[in-house]
Amino acid sequence: MTVATVSSTQARPAIGGPQDLFNSTRNTIGLPTIVRGEDIYIFDDQGNRYLDAISGAMTAQLGQGNRRVLDAMHAQGMQHSFSYVRTTRHLPNMGLTERIARLAGPGFERVHLSSGGSEAVEMGIKFLRQYAYATGQKTRTRILSLMPSYHGGTLGTIGWTGDEDAAAVWGPMAHFSTKIPAPLSYRPPGGGTSREGALFSAARIEAAIEELGSENVLAFIVEPVGGQSTGANVPDPVFFTELRRICDRHGVYLVFDEVMSACRAGTFLAAHQIPDCKPDVVVTAKGLGAGYTPMGALLAPARMVDELAERTGFNLSHTYGANPISCAGACAVLDETVERDLLGNARCVGAHLRLRLEALKERHPVIGDVRGQGLLLAVEYVRDRESKEPFSAEVFASDRIRQIGLKEGVMLYSRRQNQGRYGEWSLIAPPLIITESQADELVDQLDRSVAEFTREMVRSGEIA
Ligand code: PMP
Repeated sequence: MTVATVSSTQARPAIGGPQDLFNSTRNTIGLPTIVRGEDIYIFDDQGNRYLDAISGAMTAQLGQGNRRVLDAMHAQGMQHSFSYVRTTRHLPNMGLTERIARLAGPGFERVHLSSGGSEAVEMGIKFLRQYAYATGQKTRTRILSLMPSYHGGTLGTIGWTGDEDAAAVWGPMAHFSTKIPAPLSYRPPGGGTSREGALFSAARIEAAIEELGSENVLAFIVEPVGGQSTGANVPDPVFFTELRRICDRHGVYLVFDEVMSACRAGTFLAAHQIPDCKPDVVVTAKGLGAGYTPMGALLAPARMVDELAERTGFNLSHTYGANPISCAGACAVLDETVERDLLGNARCVGAHLRLRLEALKERHPVIGDVRGQGLLLAVEYVRDRESKEPFSAEVFASDRIRQIGLKEGVMLYSRRQNQGRYGEWSLIAPPLIITESQADELVDQLDRSVAEFTREMVRSGEIA
């Protein structure tokens, strides 16, 4: 018997092989195949060089090919490659958790390692739930978070992520948090000033807690500086002052999701820049492994961790948690960060970059806003500055600028949040090792890309 078959590769040829087939076809068009990296640049198989303006995924803080990190991982692997975190102790775990606790400062004496951002966020919430349960607060289960926001892609974290379009697919499966309008500085909820928007959000938080019954609310989770979902939104400081007051008043734990903002915002934790609002626990990831190794961490106070250890312990871990080779790599990442003062560089070059981006805004009417902190910045695009109206879905301005950027030699990352209802932007988040002249190079590339995009829009009659 002959059976006619069409293999999947015949049905849909994929340039990148099986890796391409999980992406939407539209998103794989024009993706460069990267074969080499050096400093803050990556090179494709056609010999093109790209300045990596988004550190891969806001991750590669040390750029490419850092010998110290790679040597540390190799040496650790030769010495002791793996043993399980629940049945053994090891020095790389000790070294990394001590470094993190020291950099994080008082209130974050205990550190639990995991394999990435989503896992760390889940660990943070599960730790608080286990602590609440063990200390007799058994009804505290409900989570509050912002709309929009991002907290991960697992079935747990999808529910806490603020994405208006997620409910249709995941609603029947994920457990959704109560969403509060995010205190966006450029598009404040309630329509007033940024400060009024922050007070509006805070009031909604308190109202939601009262409606749910504070005895049922476990935690509020927030990115102190926004990531992709808000384009590096920095809430007015009054938001955090109010948030701490509200959480204290209702016994709700406050979680800072610093998966993206740690180090990048210019201090080890962005929380260090908000003295009025110390979170109860912090989670971080991305830059901790700097792209060399998966790594995430939950930072918590000794008081809570030690009390829980006496009562029941926190009995959750994953196989790769505190992997020795990963810990050795992350120790070297932190040593490089401290010894080369990359936090200072994030503040310094970040300030320079921001000034130059603001100057770009003066010359390009399609740039509506420039915002962020340290080297976590964003440029928002609008069709009309007065009304802040975004470009249409067909234009997809941020992605068109990303494509033009590739020709100009800069790697950007586009986001049109919830079909443009919250606007669209390019995140500007280069490696923390970037120099001032490289920042100038980045701005010049973006300048030419936005100019070319503007010419296209004028030619097509989209703008005057
Ligand atoms: N939280 C925030 C704020 C993030 O930016 C991300 C990743 N973009 C995550 C959580 C999830 O991290 P990961 O992709 O490593 O699971």
